[in-house]
Amino acid sequence: MSHGIPADTRSTVGRAVRDRFPILSTRPGGVPLTYLDNAATTQKPDSVLDAIVGYYSRDNSNIGRGHYRLSLNATELYEGARERVRQVLGAQHPDEVVFTQGTTAATNLLADTFGARVVGRGDQVVVSGMEHNSNLLPWRRLCERSGAELVVVPVDGDGRVAAADFRAALGPRVRLAAVAHVSNVLGTVNPVREMIADAHRDGVPVVVDGAQAVPHRPVDVRELDADFYCFSGHKVYGPTGTGALYGRRELLTDLPPYQVGGGTVKGVAHDEPVRHVPVPSRLEAGTPDVAGAIGLVAALDFVDGLGWDAVRRHDAELVDHAVRVLRGVDRVRVVGAPEADPSGIVSVVVEGVHPYDVGGHLDRHGVAVRSGVHCASTFLDDLGLLGTVRISFGVYNTVDEIDFLVRALETVRPGEW
Ligand code: PLP
Repeated sequence: MSHGIPADTRSTVGRAVRDRFPILSTRPGGVPLTYLDNAATTQKPDSVLDAIVGYYSRDNSNIGRGHYRLSLNATELYEGARERVRQVLGAQHPDEVVFTQGTTAATNLLADTFGARVVGRGDQVVVSGMEHNSNLLPWRRLCERSGAELVVVPVDGDGRVAAADFRAALGPRVRLAAVAHVSNVLGTVNPVREMIADAHRDGVPVVVDGAQAVPHRPVDVRELDADFYCFSGHKVYGPTGTGALYGRRELLTDLPPYQVGGGTVKGVAHDEPVRHVPVPSRLEAGTPDVAGAIGLVAALDFVDGLGWDAVRRHDAELVDHAVRVLRGVDRVRVVGAPEADPSGIVSVVVEGVHPYDVGGHLDRHGVAVRSGVHCASTFLDDLGLLGTVRISFGVYNTVDEIDFLVRALETVRPGEW
């Protein structure tokens, strides 16, 4: 009964949902698939696949521009998807939700619009030492372009950013902070609510990278008091190329367009200044991924149907089990303490074997894990590691799969490759 989530919610996840994911019964390389790379991307349930096919079969047309029924329907579906994301993130207004291609697109958008506006020469931008390149490089480039300084808050011994360390990095020159909600390397959870409260005391807006949080915990941007929050649809059972950026209304409202083109303007004349439409359309140039947004709704509905209690309990059960059995395997070391607040990620190193070789060995058994630096080489450097083998869970994984992985891991030998 760990983490206080009732056992009767159990049947909505694990084995009970597996046959809703067609890919899980495939045999890539001729062996059954054991998919444990969910932090990279999740598989898609039948309802997401059906929603995409259904959209293209019944509703496809361009949105916002057509004065005919089909286009009006598609526009309604797209705006309905925005409303669904608003609900899921707990935002106040649908116009605080900008559709993006994912988290990377959202952080780049923010750096080039909001960041370029508020950060100048001699200023500071604060990030944490665990950031994924997608929440590091846009800020680093912003600093390089503007003559500002990037300040990196170290990660503590538990693999988290301590609120006190973050607080210590704040100061009169800080204009912006960007932090991960959950580490994509260790699955550890940062105290973002406390960090945001501290930043706000200094008038510093905070961007939260929620890529690894949204699939594993309910998020409420108002409760967090986040200024900006972004996530990727494909990590939460939705289509690739989808995602969203939440922005507090007063911060988003007067942002300049990120890209310019169709959909961002009211009207254009050769000899007049361009007049832009309001956000969020102003920040969504060109034809958006309407089918993707529809698929994302189906994915969010899918998770909603399972219930957060069941998802959280499932994560806790799998992470607890994985940590326990992995700690018993010779030469395997679990990095950090992922069971402290489980987010479906367990990173390990195998003494004397390069993570790539471990990944290749597991692949021969049909086990898909991610090995290497997980787009966070600066964090891995700080941890003093070449890389890790990252085992990450989705709602369809089972304890049996973990045991299968462990048996495969037990047969990996130094020098085998
Ligand atoms: N941030 C974190 C913490 C991630 O784990 C990832 C993806 O792995 C990203 C950002 C980038 O997400 P995407 O590639 O969907 O833009």
